[in-house]
Amino acid sequence: MRVDYRFCPGCGSRLLPREVEGRWLPGCPSCEFVAWPDPKVAVAVLAHDARGQLLLIRRGTPPAQGEWALPGGYVDADETPSEAARRELLEETGLELEVERLEGVHHVLVGDGGGLLVLAYVGRLSGGEGRTTPEALELALVDPASSPELGFSAHREALAAWRAGGD
Ligand SMILES: [Zn+2]
Repeated sequence: MRVDYRFCPGCGSRLLPREVEGRWLPGCPSCEFVAWPDPKVAVAVLAHDARGQLLLIRRGTPPAQGEWALPGGYVDADETPSEAARRELLEETGLELEVERLEGVHHVLVGDGGGLLVLAYVGRLSGGEGRTTPEALELALVDPASSPELGFSAHREALAAWRAGGD
């Protein structure tokens, strides 16, 4: 998850340790680039039907390949997070989403010093034709109270918080 830069992606100089705001980070001696360990940003979708059933996918790709999860993925720089939620659901399942609200933000430490922020959205399934894809080997609508174990901690947190909220 974390990229260990050795050369400046801006000018190609070899990076050297630089103290910035009390921490040592790889910095470029020729320009202002500093390799800040920024988190990546992803979305997860708590997509429900009219009866309150929750959509899960069985993942076809790593990580958590073969396990149940919420639909979702990384946010692109040129889209809003809620657009990413709609896009990812459509790509993975063929289903359309009407975003209702942000459930919450979940932080995950990944690997050696990497970080991930997962923005979980609640939304209503609003159309489309459900289908499996290489990313989603199986789709299931489940009772949120008896969901199978999800493969990601952020998804488990989001589901628990959504259930506790009672909608
Ligand atoms: Zn540079």
